[in-house]
Amino acid sequence: MQTPKSIQIFAILILIVFVLIACTSNPYVKKIPKEQYVVMLSLDGCRWDYPQMANMPNLEAIAREGVKLESLQPAFPSKTFPNHYSIATGLYPDNHGIVQNTFYDPDMDAYYKIRDRDAVENGDFYGGEPIWVTAEKQGLKTGSFYWVGSEAPVSGTYPSRWKKYNHTFPYEARVDSVIAWLSLPKDQRPRLITWYYPEPDGVGHKFSPESEEVKAKLEYLDSLIGDFRHKLAQLPIANQVNVIVTSDHGMARTSGDKIIYFDDYIQPAWIDTALGSNPIWMFDAMPEYLDSVYLNLQRAEHLQVWKRDSIPDALHYGSHPRVMDIVAAPDLHWSVGWRAREYPSDYVGGTHGYDPRYKDMHAIFYASGPAFKHGYVHPTVENVNIYPLIAKILNLKPAETDGKLENVSRMLKPKMLIDD
Ligand code: AMP
Ligand code: ZN
Ligand code: ZN
Repeated sequence: MQTPKSIQIFAILILIVFVLIACTSNPYVKKIPKEQYVVMLSLDGCRWDYPQMANMPNLEAIAREGVKLESLQPAFPSKTFPNHYSIATGLYPDNHGIVQNTFYDPDMDAYYKIRDRDAVENGDFYGGEPIWVTAEKQGLKTGSFYWVGSEAPVSGTYPSRWKKYNHTFPYEARVDSVIAWLSLPKDQRPRLITWYYPEPDGVGHKFSPESEEVKAKLEYLDSLIGDFRHKLAQLPIANQVNVIVTSDHGMARTSGDKIIYFDDYIQPAWIDTALGSNPIWMFDAMPEYLDSVYLNLQRAEHLQVWKRDSIPDALHYGSHPRVMDIVAAPDLHWSVGWRAREYPSDYVGGTHGYDPRYKDMHAIFYASGPAFKHGYVHPTVENVNIYPLIAKILNLKPAETDGKLENVSRMLKPKMLIDD
């Protein structure tokens, strides 16, 4: 029996439609733009599980259209400056030198402090090669609306566009500036943009991570992500832009009944210099008192105390000359300080800085755009792997890093990994 011609033609047409659909949705066939952009936002102190606590539809849309990590593990100590700079350089703090928010450099005979503008803007403090320096050296324009290290000439290089840190600069205007940078003529337009909000870290410290205040702040931040995504979608280059939303560390609840006071164990005269803030401290002892400080601090329960050469390998910490003789870190939820200086009420709320293997210290990582798979959830990785990921997307020759592309390459579409 013969099929009527019209049915044959109809069947062929259906087949063609199916082939076209298959071609456009197959990641091997869909064309990936050659020139891609990366826009990376850090929400300071956004713990890996915060999006489950609040209504964050715009962040969830990024995960649906792209990828998310189970969690992003920070480097030790899980503080802001060491970790933003680990994300930027792909190096552990021992290898990039920003070993704490506050430290002393013995060779420079100078202190680095996050609220000291001269220090923060002094390129001599910053080791390694931030991803924007790699990009600029290879001819790409970059921009930074705040990121640790972007306000200093690192190896003599700044991002093409950067800003002096201003904590209270309006959040909505940061969105508009990033959009304005992406709207610049092609020869001035940054291919890599980093930007930053100091929340939900602030509310996490003050009100504790599981508080209503954190939830409200997360929902506000999500609305800014929504505003950004909406404005980005209007741009002609929208389909070339990869958006990453990540963070430097998490946050753990603290309470007035879990405090270790150093002065209960050691005497001020034994200490040459003590630097830190709850919950991480470093000490240089008077030479004859090194063991007195070490052995007496070891008597404290819930406190890990290490001489700099015996810090566990997993923390990758202790080889940089800026790491002091003794490092002390308490168990999760515990605070450390000085009876002479602080009160139990100082420790109610939340903090971070603990061993990064505690999951409460882990951060978020969400990404979508032409380089990323769709709806893919990747297991936990360390934040030193972000540098090689961005270098790959921007087709840059990476500097030497502790992170490795192979640890994160499953987030990328297979086509991204074929060198042509
Ligand atoms: P912390 O919670 O102590 O680890 O540090 C968080 C604080 O770092 C934020 O509240 C900001 O005020 C500060 N911060 C972040 N980026 C910068 C920057 N580029 N320059 C100066 N301060 C910064
Ligand atoms: Zn932080
Ligand atoms: Zn903080």
